[in-house]
Amino acid sequence: MDRLDTSRRAFLRGRLTPPEPPPIRPPWAKAEPEFTTACTRCQACLPACPAGILRLANDGYPQVDFSLGECTFCRACIDACTHGAFLAPDEARPWNHVAAVGAGCLGLQGVYCRSCGDVCQPGAISFGFGSRALPIPSIDPAACTGCGACIAACPAAAISTVTATSAEDAAT
Ligand code: SF4
Ligand code: SF4
Ligand code: SF4
Repeated sequence: MDRLDTSRRAFLRGRLTPPEPPPIRPPWAKAEPEFTTACTRCQACLPACPAGILRLANDGYPQVDFSLGECTFCRACIDACTHGAFLAPDEARPWNHVAAVGAGCLGLQGVYCRSCGDVCQPGAISFGFGSRALPIPSIDPAACTGCGACIAACPAAAISTVTATSAEDAAT
């Protein structure tokens, strides 16, 4: 049996997991491949992060893990890097993602929850009310900083990141 048949059979049996999304690099990281060219994988930024949200991605380079907490944009990771892997923070956006609410939101399952809105400091999350009069969150991509506070706070793991441009397109 050839490789294609083996993969297809494994997929049909549920043995293949979907490909992982690309890692979210620390804020103000240069665009790839410039980032991975400059970064030596020295790991200096990992312990420098007071929020403890940096860890190694599968490729050995640092990534942000929003399940561990939020980015406060303190810039300690930039200060720890001596290899030029970051942009000048006063001249660039920290990254090109915003948060987006998925179908797993508890409000869509008939359960009351406003946890994401409670932690969103920029006030980017507003709530409408569905047919069951339960709050349903909506994220304004223009106000979202991509800090990830709502991702760690969501008890249903229903929030993920999307590119800012795709979120803005969806909002228009
Ligand atoms: S800016 Fe601060 S909180 Fe955000 S990843 Fe860097 S060190 Fe961590
Ligand atoms: S925290 Fe999660 S489950 Fe709760 S309202 Fe927000 S998206 Fe929905
Ligand atoms: S990522 Fe941060 S700014 Fe954006 S909606 Fe979530 S908590 Fe608010």
